[in-house]
Amino acid sequence: MENQILGLHHITAIAGDARKNYDFYTRILGLRLVKKTVNFDDPKTYHFYYGDKIGTPGTILTFFPWGSSIGSGRRGTRQVTEIGYSVPSGSLDFWLKRLEDHHVIYNKVSEKFGEQYLTFLDNDGLKFELTVPKNADTRIPWETDAIKAENALKGFHHITITSNKIEATAAILTEVFGYKLLEQEVNRYRFVTDTVEQANVVDLVEAPGEQVGHVAGGSVHHVAFRVRDEKVLMHFRAIIQDRGLQITEKIDRNYFYSLYFREPGGVLFELATDNPGFAIDEPVEELGQGLKLPAQYESHRDEIEKVLPKLKADE
Ligand code: ZN
Repeated sequence: MENQILGLHHITAIAGDARKNYDFYTRILGLRLVKKTVNFDDPKTYHFYYGDKIGTPGTILTFFPWGSSIGSGRRGTRQVTEIGYSVPSGSLDFWLKRLEDHHVIYNKVSEKFGEQYLTFLDNDGLKFELTVPKNADTRIPWETDAIKAENALKGFHHITITSNKIEATAAILTEVFGYKLLEQEVNRYRFVTDTVEQANVVDLVEAPGEQVGHVAGGSVHHVAFRVRDEKVLMHFRAIIQDRGLQITEKIDRNYFYSLYFREPGGVLFELATDNPGFAIDEPVEELGQGLKLPAQYESHRDEIEKVLPKLKADE
């Protein structure tokens, strides 16, 4: 039983302007910035991690804000096309008003699989759903002055992957990751794992005529599934290799260990560990406050800090 996929770990997306991204997620949505670091492959751009108080796996949304020159992506196949957050029962009216007040593009409340949800787009066009789950979500959310626990985002509810044909992706979910097909509505197939209570849903949408998506600003770069530790990580590496898929070596991401592979439906999947977590280089109370650099860039801190955009007017 110990070699399990424990639902979603994090989702990484591409943004344009860093300051607008920081403002949208911390102030308008009320998430906590749990880590401010740089792209390890391109240290002159930020890598932001937003989540709950400690950045619990299943709550972590990360961004590479590459500036406005990155251009806009386009939703389509071979992509994660929606990110679903779980919100408390009775909170959708609060969110309708808040999105309206802040000039966010949103849609009226709708329902699927017996759950009400509200769709909106961030500054760069990244698509979200706030879902009131059928089963109570007991996770404790991060609170801000404007967004208290009765309304706050609790972490991920689901992701949606769009494909011309879902079969090959469904096989990875069911045969490798231990998910089961729970329900189907029209062309949307809902897969769930029972290894965890939350962040355990993947929807596959089959759209035969849909074009391939373009990954740029406002689109998801990859999705990471959660494993307990490096031993489980390497267990899955062997299984994925045995299926004839290319997979990376284990990579140290400072806050977790990772493997990446492209699933046969074209989406970049990552597997990421619970250990060591975000408190490894700053105390929980101070998460996200300092700019954290990996060891190889520490000697370049001054020049890196000079080129990174300021996130607040008084910085
Ligand atoms: Zn990742």
